[in-house]
Order: sequence, then structure tokens, then C-alpha cells
Amino acid sequence: MEKIVRKTLTDQIFDYIQDQIANGNWKRGEKLPSETELAEKLGVSRMSLRAAIQRSNTMGLTETKVGEGTFVKKISMRPFIENLLKSNLLSADNDDINDMRKAAEFRGGKCLSDSMTKGDLRSPITWSCQFGHEFKASPTLVLLGGHWCPECFPMPWNYDEIARGNPFFAQVWYPLHDKDEDNYYDESIFKGFKDM
Ligand SMILES: [Zn+2]
Repeated sequence: MEKIVRKTLTDQIFDYIQDQIANGNWKRGEKLPSETELAEKLGVSRMSLRAAIQRSNTMGLTETKVGEGTFVKKISMRPFIENLLKSNLLSADNDDINDMRKAAEFRGGKCLSDSMTKGDLRSPITWSCQFGHEFKASPTLVLLGGHWCPECFPMPWNYDEIARGNPFFAQVWYPLHDKDEDNYYDESIFKGFKDM
């Protein structure tokens, strides 16, 4: 039998705060709506709201400055990981080639292997990214480790281009960047850099 997890009102408000930050509605450095405004919008008491903000501050997601308000401090990875879990890509029952195809599609690419041993998440299989680069990686490395195309991600870094075709990456990129940016980083950023 499945366990029933009961969430308190404060838990739910806290989840809401995390979601707003994770999906980029509230960006880093931005001020949260006022307590009155938020409490009214969510239909909760200011006391519950305050408790949730307090937790968010403790977790380092937000910061309350006296007389100024509460600001987004950093991105929470938790809702992002929870969304992955919800998509069932990581559950033990979803460990065959069809699930790998879904995982690849979610990243804008393809799973090129025709088959895999159900449940074997350690053996490398073949993938291709949105730009057609082929690479081998185990399902564990891709699904749990968060790795993807080794050609795209090391260099040159055009994260905006990648985010446009890779929804998985977009979830971590867009909370920090606007959709019309075009950041391109090449080898020149290493000028003057010395390996210690
Ligand atoms: Zn690639």
C-alpha cells in the first residue's frame, strides 16, 4: 500500500514558492509580491505565509531584508528533480528502451539504441542530441547524473541555443536567463586561465 503524505498549509505554500522560483516566474534578485498580496492571492493567512517564507529563507532560496521585502536568492533544484520523478523516468518500473526514448525526447534528442536489457541502467547505450551528435552513456548517467551530449556541453557553450531545443536543460537555464538572450562562450574565455 502506498503511503499517504499529508502536507500542511505551510508545506503547500513553501512548494508554491519553490515552484515560482524553479519555473522562472520569480527570478533571482527579484522581489516577491508583498505579504498581503501573496496571502490574498493564495487564500492563506499571513501567519502561514510567514512560516513558509521563513522556511524558504532558512533553505537559502529567499532572503528577507528588513523594511525592503523578500528577494529571490537562488534557484531551487528540488521542484526540478521532483518534476523528473513525477514524469516517472526514474522509477523502477520505467527502465526499458521506451523510457529511454522518452528521456531523450525530453532533452530534444533521440535514443539510438534499438533495445536494452530491462532494468540494466548501468550499461552504456547510444544517444543523439538535438544537433545530431552521437554519444554513449548509461541510463544512470543521463537520468540520474543529469549528463547529456559531451560535444554540446563542454564547448563552445551556447546554452541559449541548447535551451531552445532541450526542455530538460531549459528548466535550469531559464530561471537565470531571458528567452531572447544569446550567450555564446568559446575557448577565448580561457585566456589567462592557468591550470593549478
Ligand atoms: Zn550535441
